This record gives sequence, structure tokens and C-alpha cells, in this order.
Amino acid sequence: MIQQLSLFPYLETQASTRPPDFIPVYTPVLNGREEKYVLDAVRSGWISSLGSYVTRFEEAFARFCGVRHAVSVSNGTVAIHLALHALGIGPGDEVIVPSLTFVATANAVHYTGATPVFADVDPVTWCLDPADVRRRITPRTRAILPVHLYGHPAPMPELQALADEHELLLIEDAAEAHGAAIGGRRVGGWGRIATFSFYANKIITTGEGGMVTTDDDALAARCRLLRDHAMPPHRRYWHDEVGFNYRMTNLQAAVGVAQMERIDSFIRRKREIAARYRKELAGMAGVTFAAEQPGYTNVYWMVSVLVAAPYALSRDELIPALRARGIDSRPFFHPLDTLPPYLSATPRPVALHLSRCGLNLPSSPALTDAQVAYVCQVMRELAG
Ligand SMILES: *Cc1c(COP(=O)(O)O)cnc(C)c1O
Repeated sequence: MIQQLSLFPYLETQASTRPPDFIPVYTPVLNGREEKYVLDAVRSGWISSLGSYVTRFEEAFARFCGVRHAVSVSNGTVAIHLALHALGIGPGDEVIVPSLTFVATANAVHYTGATPVFADVDPVTWCLDPADVRRRITPRTRAILPVHLYGHPAPMPELQALADEHELLLIEDAAEAHGAAIGGRRVGGWGRIATFSFYANKIITTGEGGMVTTDDDALAARCRLLRDHAMPPHRRYWHDEVGFNYRMTNLQAAVGVAQMERIDSFIRRKREIAARYRKELAGMAGVTFAAEQPGYTNVYWMVSVLVAAPYALSRDELIPALRARGIDSRPFFHPLDTLPPYLSATPRPVALHLSRCGLNLPSSPALTDAQVAYVCQVMRELAG
């Protein structure tokens, strides 16, 4: 399992310095029917975007999210772009996004010609803070685009009320939160439209891949049209507008169908791993976990902690110290409004604070209990 990691540059460490029992931040689990289905797709000859696995994957994913439609696409970034474009968001519009997220959320807004406007996040949920969103609404605001960061749902009921009050669209970036829920209702079905990613380290993977989910029949049809060069299914080589090639292949979908057969067990295991970390690190001074809000189900894409005094090491000192003991970890994202393309004069204070002390610990469902115990033991040894 660990050997496979060298295939993923994102997860790579220097092979020569990696001990044999190195614990990565994430390993995809591909030992179900993935091989069988991919082989079947290859042998069938249906390897591009037509093929039964695409339909099966979309149907299984829509059922999982409790929505009417799931439209597969080539990755999670274009899923957001497609959703925004299908809703008619473009030049002159503003879309409110959290400052603390992966850069793709803002880039997808930028691709449409609209402007991403960065709102601060909540110190407890680490997701979009409705009070700060309210302050950033202008006459140009068209949409609010919350992110369910590291697996914890954003406060959708509050954001929906705000969107209704100002007649704004609500769009979910659920790339990190497949299966997360509020009051038992899963993400992907809260916004007018939602998007997911199936990158190798996401909750399920198709290698590269993404999905758009919605209950709106017309919007789903529009996404299907636009992802295939805006070519109507019954009028070949006719195009009323400029579309995209954002299609997923049957090979990717074959992996997706196999992953959907096990998604419940992945999530169960991820919640178990998070509970183990929490129990073993409980009461460790200077180490704080994200609080799962009452009624909210966190799927712990990442098991994340904030590291601060009196813990002996800063977050930036802890990463190499863990690495030296064979444990990989990742810092939180930089606030997007501190990056050159999106630089603002007034960084959002909560996002900035979390970004400086947030750390993602090994979080793969493939982790053994012994590995989790070892990470916790090292965290205790380094605590000072
Ligand atoms: C991973 C991710 C994306 C982009 O997904 P890709 O499939 O890598 O394009 C978008 N938003 C968030 C919050 C993500 O974590």
C-alpha cells in the first residue's frame, strides 16, 4: 500500500530518506473491485466518456447524496467552473468564497470572469462565517460558495437564510466532504448546485475526476450539455454556444463505481480514526481539534489540529520533527487573499490564524490502529 505512493507526486517524500514504515498523510484504498471494473471497461472498448460505468457511477453518487442528478466531469476544479458557468455567473459578478480553502475554489470563479470575494471563516467550524459573508455582500454579489473544509460541513442553514434574504445563489464546494451531513441530510443537496472532487487523496477517488450534483432538472441538463461542447445529444456537430470538454472517462468511472461500493466503510473508518486521535491526544496542552458541531457529521477528510503554545514546538517546527520520525503531515492552506493572484491589504484574521497553526495528520482510511497510536505517541514525546 505504502509503495503505491511514489505514483503520487503530491504525496511524495524523498524515497532515499523514507523509512520502510513511513506513514503518509493519505493513501488511496483501491483493493476492492477497481481492477476488475477497469479491466472490464478496457476489454469492452468503451474507454472514453461513453460507457455504462459513467451512468452507473452518476446514479450511485446521486443516490448517495440524496439528489436527483449527478453529472460526472474530469476533475473537481472544472466541476466548480461548470456549475458557475451553468448558473450564468460571469464578468462583473462577485462570488463570496472562504479565505481558507484550496486555491481551486477561487480559481474557478476567476475562470468565469467573475471576482472571488474572500470572507473570513469561523474559529470553531473553520468554514465560511455567515456574519462576515453578510458584511461582504455588495450590489454585484451573485453567489455564496461555501467549502466544507477538511470534511466539516459549512453552516448551510444560516448561509441559505442569508442567500434567500439577498436573492443570491448558494453553491457548495464539497470536494473534501463526501457523505458529510447536517441533521442527517448530506452535503451535495443543500445548495442550488454542488461540486465534488475524486483526486487520489479525496474521500473516494477516480484518479482525477469530479461531479456536479443538483435537484434542478434544467440545471443538470445544462451541465450535461456544456460539459460536452454544448452539443445537443440529438444534433451532432451543432453548437448554439461555446461549451467545454469536461467529460469523465469510462475508465475513471469504473474506479468510481468500485469506490462507491465501499464509501460507507471508508467514512466509518475515517470517523473511527478521528475518534482514536481525539481520545489519545485529549487534554494535550496546545493541541486543539475541530469541534464537530451538534447535528453536524464531519467525515474527517483530514484529521486536523491546531498547534500552539504551550505545545513545545510550533506547527512549522512540528512538521519536520514528525517527518524525522517517519510521519508525514501537511500544513493548512494559505489564506487565498495572501497569495499573489488574490492579494488583499486586509487579510482575514481567523483564516490567517488557522493557516499559521493548523496541521493535518495522517488521515487515510488505510491507517492501522497501531499507526494512529504511534503518531499520538510521537506527538506526546514532542510535546515537551
Ligand atoms: C481538491 C479540491 C478541489 C479541486 O479538485 P481537483 O479534482 O483537484 O481539481 C476544489 N476545492 C477543494 C476545496 C478541494 O479540496
